Amino acid sequence: MPSSPSTTTGVSPRFPLDLPDCRFDQRNEMFKRRIWDEEFIEHGKQLYGEIRFKDAYGYRKLDYALRNAAWNLEYGYAFGTMKGNHGLYSWDHVPAKAKRFVETGEQVTHSPEENARIVKKAARFLGADLVGTCFAHPNLIYSHEMDLMDGVHRSVELPEGCTNAIVMAVAMDFESTRYSPDGIAGAATGLGYSVQAVVANMVAAFIRGLGFQAVPSGNDTAISVPLALAAGLGELGRMGLLITEKFGPRVRICKVFTDMPLAFDDFKPFGVEAFCRDCKKCAQHCPSQAISDGEPTMEGPSLSSFSGVKKWYIDPERCFMYWVKNWMDCNNCVMVCPFNKPPGKLHDTVRFLIRRAPILNRFMVWMDDLLGYGKPMKRREKNFWESPPSR
Ligand code: SF4
Ligand code: SF4
Repeated sequence: MPSSPSTTTGVSPRFPLDLPDCRFDQRNEMFKRRIWDEEFIEHGKQLYGEIRFKDAYGYRKLDYALRNAAWNLEYGYAFGTMKGNHGLYSWDHVPAKAKRFVETGEQVTHSPEENARIVKKAARFLGADLVGTCFAHPNLIYSHEMDLMDGVHRSVELPEGCTNAIVMAVAMDFESTRYSPDGIAGAATGLGYSVQAVVANMVAAFIRGLGFQAVPSGNDTAISVPLALAAGLGELGRMGLLITEKFGPRVRICKVFTDMPLAFDDFKPFGVEAFCRDCKKCAQHCPSQAISDGEPTMEGPSLSSFSGVKKWYIDPERCFMYWVKNWMDCNNCVMVCPFNKPPGKLHDTVRFLIRRAPILNRFMVWMDDLLGYGKPMKRREKNFWESPPSR
């Protein structure tokens, strides 16, 4: 059953997905537990505090330099993984000069449909690869944020009236993601975070320019995946990530909350759930066995699970501990997923068949294996620095 908002007053827009009947405290999110949960504090210091170069492709100084450069805008200026309403994701302390330049007076008076069309056009122009709109269900706004910069745990409330969301996905580079779990793939992730911060910042500025409030958000403020599902960007996969039709799970998600009247998109499934039942490649290739190869459940295995809806839950503690062991983040589940393919006639045909002929799903998985897709790269195949730029 679709969910109705439990804490708003007045209009109650329909939300196209079931949601838990509560808000999640970001303090319990796995990457926040590294600053307060005794079990993970030392591990977190190792993962985020130290760089240990290795004489192995993907872990050398050269590789780390690329990874850190790609993350530089997020870690140095945007801070969407650290805290909300800060850096490029600020909403109530936009610099005065930028404010004067951007805020140009009265609100435009377009219809919600026209607003949605315009804002999507602008978002694509400003760098989003996918964009949709949805009701910002209050249960998807964190009850509290855990501020990693100041170590403060504080409640989260959006500005009055910001009940609509523009949800955007930025695609990560296909070639470098294939290097997971090393620093070349880490660079693809970092670049995704850095680019999405710029996109969210500029889309928020655009909306302010039309006279409305705008709250840009990265990993802060609200849970991104269900918002992306509701905005029609894709489906939830076994690995717990958004699977988009065009890029599979190889995307980062950002959003902008606003009081601008918007027509909403709807959830647009395209066969992922049925495909995941037969596939299980992410579960088989996860180095920490963090991904379930069983049936969807109502409860997750951890304090960090947002339990209460039927889905495949991952074990974020296992995932995190693998990252610690690897001294680096991992993208193996993204890399092996059959939906993670660049556009092309063959891959587009497969996507079409998954949507229209789920009876062929097992055959598709078998073909994916046969064609050699979705396997971690061997050392002899790694040639990022020797090959021509991918774009
Ligand atoms: S990121 Fe790596 S360790 Fe974590 S769930 Fe995916 S494959 Fe497993
Ligand atoms: S790898 Fe397979 S099972 Fe996992 S999310 Fe992708 S399609 Fe689903």
